[in-house]
Amino acid sequence: MWIVPRFKIFGCRWLAATPEYNSAAVKRTQCLRAIALMIFVLASFSQVYAQAPQPKGGGVTPGTLPHTWEPSGPQCGPNPQFQVHEYNPDLYILRESGCSNYEKPFLYLLFGREKALLLDTGAGTMDVALVVHSQIDRWLQHNHQQIVSLIVAHTHSHSDHISGDQQLKSLPHTTVIEPKTAAVQSFFNFHNWPTEPVTYDLGDRILDIIPIPGHEASSVAVYDRQTGILFTGDTLYPGRLYVQDATAFTLSIQRLVDFTQGKIVTHVLGNHIEQTHTPHLDYPIGTVYQPDEHELALGRAQLLELNDALKKMNGHIVRMAFRDFTIWPE
Ligand SMILES: [Zn+2]
Ligand SMILES: [Zn+2]
Repeated sequence: MWIVPRFKIFGCRWLAATPEYNSAAVKRTQCLRAIALMIFVLASFSQVYAQAPQPKGGGVTPGTLPHTWEPSGPQCGPNPQFQVHEYNPDLYILRESGCSNYEKPFLYLLFGREKALLLDTGAGTMDVALVVHSQIDRWLQHNHQQIVSLIVAHTHSHSDHISGDQQLKSLPHTTVIEPKTAAVQSFFNFHNWPTEPVTYDLGDRILDIIPIPGHEASSVAVYDRQTGILFTGDTLYPGRLYVQDATAFTLSIQRLVDFTQGKIVTHVLGNHIEQTHTPHLDYPIGTVYQPDEHELALGRAQLLELNDALKKMNGHIVRMAFRDFTIWPE
């Protein structure tokens, strides 16, 4: 015969009971099951609330990255000098061909309502002004706009990131920031370099410019609030992270960790790929043809991993291969 449950919360008699209910063992089992069920329900609610504050991708504008980039070679024939990828209609990624220069750097072109920002200008000899100009023309047509000012900035001053500067100076409505620390500080109006980031508005598109000296003295990272992308230059990318100044580099990585704390980071995009798709393995320096290279994007997890490693090294940088990058003292 079935017994109507008595809703006795602490005694657990609020579940439907069976004729065997009076057995002490069954009572205990029923109680434990009930408590487990309650814990599960409460845990489910807490998970929902943990994810709820930032629905729909956290409010950032989405975009796509290619699964792989066109490999340069194996034979260098009439390869285009740049592969252009539209992340979204206001952000273009330009990758220089290894047939132009083995460094194969990435350049980024971001559009706001009033200004566009080109981050880096490439390596060696190539026609970067042509490709940037044609992208700007396409964007103007698409947005029914006559003019957009172009600001040319650099992640840092190494030659594989600034080679196209002279060409770009010839474009109309263009300002090329000199790749030197003083010029960067002055243009972006830094007051407390390198400890305090500043903002720069492209017109309804605010960028945070974060000083990260260490790979090179004028290095900056750029955080794009619109897409949630953190651009890190040669300071963090899937490849060899050359550390020129150990103290400055360590402080800069901690600064990036602190800056990104609590912020959405959709991708960490650096300016080269030197890792292979095989964990811990990089292509030899100077490799042109990389048919099995690592993806471009890293995430905040790799930033935290790098920060932990640097803390342990305590200023004595040693070469160490991680799954997605290699720390490399200079
Ligand atoms: Zn560099
Ligand atoms: Zn570089």
